[in-house]
Amino acid sequence: KSGFVSIIGRPNVGKSTYINRVIGQKIAIMSDKPQTTRNKVQGVLTTNDSQIILIDTPGIHKPKHKLGDFMMRVATNTLKEVDLILFMINAVEGYGKGDEFIIEKLKTVRTPVFLVINKIDQVHPDDLLKIIEKYKELYDFAEIIPISALEGQNTERLLEQIKEYL
Ligand code: GDP
Ligand code: MG
Repeated sequence: KSGFVSIIGRPNVGKSTYINRVIGQKIAIMSDKPQTTRNKVQGVLTTNDSQIILIDTPGIHKPKHKLGDFMMRVATNTLKEVDLILFMINAVEGYGKGDEFIIEKLKTVRTPVFLVINKIDQVHPDDLLKIIEKYKELYDFAEIIPISALEGQNTERLLEQIKEYL
């Protein structure tokens, strides 16, 4: 199995940390220039049964100027072309204004979307459940997977679920 997976989400939710963990190198951080569309392919993960191309997709946010508007359209086109979108949020901050804009964009594409709730090492399980309930109201996610990109909780399970959608 092989396919393209786009990772989106507000700054600081842990996108680069997750990519670094699964790829096992510091690729994402090295090319982590916000707002650039160059070097979008952050890494290729090859296992015995799959090849996953991870794309860190910046620029899905309300544009503040003309160039930002162009970047945003490039990013939105990327979302249409990939096999799967990982929409990453941060369990500590929960729902924020930036997410509203991203969810509106997600509603314009047909690509399946996972809600990846990162930083679960920093929240109480009750608060995690509240976050899940909130986001379920906003969008019909294909899967909802809580992880800790930093500590590795559930990251293997997420990888297995990704393969199911390639
Ligand atoms: P990005 O902007 O979405 O690429 O976010 P980064 O990957 O750069 O992470 C932002 C910050 O959150 C960094 O200080 C990370 O170490 C931290 N971080 C990322 N994932 C986790 C996690 O699962 N748990 C905790 N506690 N911190 C995390
Ligand atoms: Mg990053």
